[in-house]
Amino acid sequence: MPRKERVLYPKPRSSFLLVKCASCATERVVYSNAAVQVKCDSCGEVLAEPTGGRANILAEVIKKMD
Ligand SMILES: [Zn+2]
Repeated sequence: MPRKERVLYPKPRSSFLLVKCASCATERVVYSNAAVQVKCDSCGEVLAEPTGGRANILAEVIKKMD
């Protein structure tokens, strides 16, 4: 059996997400495991809330950036 060389964080797979604010349609990139609340730069709408693991994304996810 092949051994895995890379040591990954013992957390769910994370990624960066391009999201669109529901209020003003501004797009921005949000980390899927954001540990702090992410707000829209333009209108202050909350786009993502930390949950301790994967962030709760409240905005529309347009695509995943990898
Ligand atoms: Zn906004």
